[in-house]
Amino acid sequence: MNIEHQDGAHDPTRIAIIGGGVTGLTTAYDLTRPAGQERYAVTIFENAPALGGLAAGFRGRPAWEWPLEHFYHHLFLSDRAMLGLLDEVGFRHALKSYRPNTAIHAQGKNYTLDSVSRVLGFPLIPLVDRVRMGMVIAYLRYHPARPWRRFDKIGADAWLRRWMGRKAYEAAWEFQLQGKFGDSYQEVNLAWFWARVFARTPKLAYFDGGFQAFIDHLAQRVQQQGVEIFTNCAVEAIRPQTDGGYTVVVDGEARRFDQVLSTVSPGAMQRLAPDLPAAYLGQLARLKSMGAVVLTVALDRKLTKDMYWISLPKREGIPFLALVEHTNMIDPSHYAGDHLLYLGDYLPPDHRYFEFSTEELLDEFAPHLVKFNPSFRREWVTGAWVHKAKYAQPVPPIGYLEMIPALRTPLPGLYFASMSQVYPWDRGTNYAVELGRKVAGMIDA
Ligand SMILES: Cc1cc2nc3c(=O)[nH]c(=O)nc-3n(C[C@H](O)[C@H](O)[C@H](O)COP(=O)(O)OP(=O)(O)OC[C@H]3O[C@@H](n4cnc5c(N)ncnc54)[C@H](O)[C@@H]3O)c2cc1C
Repeated sequence: MNIEHQDGAHDPTRIAIIGGGVTGLTTAYDLTRPAGQERYAVTIFENAPALGGLAAGFRGRPAWEWPLEHFYHHLFLSDRAMLGLLDEVGFRHALKSYRPNTAIHAQGKNYTLDSVSRVLGFPLIPLVDRVRMGMVIAYLRYHPARPWRRFDKIGADAWLRRWMGRKAYEAAWEFQLQGKFGDSYQEVNLAWFWARVFARTPKLAYFDGGFQAFIDHLAQRVQQQGVEIFTNCAVEAIRPQTDGGYTVVVDGEARRFDQVLSTVSPGAMQRLAPDLPAAYLGQLARLKSMGAVVLTVALDRKLTKDMYWISLPKREGIPFLALVEHTNMIDPSHYAGDHLLYLGDYLPPDHRYFEFSTEELLDEFAPHLVKFNPSFRREWVTGAWVHKAKYAQPVPPIGYLEMIPALRTPLPGLYFASMSQVYPWDRGTNYAVELGRKVAGMIDA
């Protein structure tokens, strides 16, 4: 809706972006560059006091030099969309690569399975099963046709159990699917698993200053390009108008826009835009996802010698899925000497942990830390912070390709872009960048 004046000039199209996470910021960036062109007047409304969404950071103590993500975050060296954006906005220099140790925990010990030789040396299953596991992973990773569309129709659990063999699958993979997808794990399709094996690199990357430094840099850039950003601003409704365009209700006040991009969860989108056609609302309602509860713990010393990431089967009797010793990758000097651990899990949004306070969760989790270091004492804990997100991990079932709601909703000029539309890749900031750019391209088509 570009209004043309008599001199041929146009009023900029007014765009509201709901959500100041990586997707919303990236769309705002693309729509307003190059600076000075002013074809779009973009306004971002963010509910939280700060930008960044799920990738945002917090300063647990004023003495921390760098903020830390509420939820553990790193990048892979294959994250091309993110690397491309960093080059454009001049922030690539802040991204450093690391080769931290990752492991699975089984029968009281940690095993690293990140290379062929380590898989072949995994002692808990017979050699023949190790070889089968290695061959299946190699098949998925190096298949020249990248056949993920075919894998969309196949269940990961049944396929992996069949081809990897029960022993290998149950020892190394089944618990990871169970941990990430809960009771829905048998529905998850092989395309999701393929993407995970195909795209991930053992080398990881992390920003100097944390992900918040990247978000702040991007936010500053879009503001320089003229984007208006409001934090602490919850959008309450998106209402289509009969004369075209939308009313966006923010803190009780109605504001007019020509087009709207919403980057909220599918559940929130149904509430914000009930005027969407029933078929689209039905698609949103059918999307499943898991929440996340993550306890960050500060210790006065290391817990493990050199482990960054340990994946934990529930059968080991440990009540969380991942133990991430962040300061075994990033130097604790950036956090005033605190050694920082994340104890995290993906849970259904009605799980009792969502009601737990930091203290209650610490009481539940801390007794298990002795399993990773027999000398651990509760006195080592010098701080703890809990963070919770009810929409944290989409569940991609068999046939997901046909279930994904379109980015362009049936209402003209209303777009919806969320983690649930990132596929076959597992959600991540790299894919939020990709998604944000795709929607910007559609709006600007
Ligand atoms: C536990 C966990 C671990 C992760 N690990 C990694 C990792 O290692 N590497 C990686 O790259 N990615 C990781 N991710 C994923 C990554 O954080 C997300 O993919 C990405 O941040 C999604 O960005 P987004 O902008 O699409 O959504 P979000 O970040 O969810 O942004 C949406 C925004 O909308 C706002 N909002 C919601 N409702 C309203 C409203 N009514 N009005 C105004 N604003 C509203 C929210 O406050 C939020 O800021 C992880 C996520 C989780 C949960």
